[in-house]
Amino acid sequence: MSIEENLITIRNEILNIQKECNRENDKVELLAVSKTKPIDYLLEAYNSGQRLFGENRINEAEIKVPALPNDAIFHMIGHLQSNKVKKACELFDCIQSVDSLKVAKKIDKYCKELKKTMDIYLEINIVNDINKNGFKPSDDLINIAKEITTLTNINIVGLMCIGAHVSDEQQIKKSFLSLKELSEKLNNEIPEFNGTKLSMGMSGDYKLAIESGSSMVRVGSSIFGVRV
Ligand SMILES: *Cc1c(COP(=O)(O)O)cnc(C)c1O
Repeated sequence: MSIEENLITIRNEILNIQKECNRENDKVELLAVSKTKPIDYLLEAYNSGQRLFGENRINEAEIKVPALPNDAIFHMIGHLQSNKVKKACELFDCIQSVDSLKVAKKIDKYCKELKKTMDIYLEINIVNDINKNGFKPSDDLINIAKEITTLTNINIVGLMCIGAHVSDEQQIKKSFLSLKELSEKLNNEIPEFNGTKLSMGMSGDYKLAIESGSSMVRVGSSIFGVRV
């Protein structure tokens, strides 16, 4: 199947899942995760109407972002090292992988210099996996989120997570529902926090994520083929 056919299939599937779980009036966006894939693949997706792309490395983004038309939107979804924050602020429209207060403050600082406001997601290590990045649910997230909302060149749009890496669907769903619960808690307890979006669901589990309230699924291999 071509990239275009894959995109059509997945967009239809997203709509069908939304109908099945009575979310047809909600907006569920599709982020095409193009990491490791060549520019030709991104252009093919772009030419079949895709505008949202996800990349996880600065050095790849430096090549791909300028190669796509201006209305392509790039989200950073990989762990961001401190020394790469400046470049990330120049290249990306949104940083989904904000996993420390320190990185948030750096993004704010560089965005002031660039005179832009960066949309961000707080990445949550929802299953407390020592091998994963992200804030832990046990961190003092209320106070961290409060402090981030005071940063003037940052706009928190929501929370991001990677679902539990297990085969049991109920357990995967539980991890997505925990992110939703955390989002509700932050939005209820912090009036200035308007991060209501949930970026969750990948090729293998986006159905469960949409059923759990996802507003953006991040799909790579089902669109572009497996990564080697
Ligand atoms: C690679 C990646 C994806 C996409 O994964 P697929 O299984 O290929 O759909 C989504 N989110 C993040 C954070 C990733 O690193």
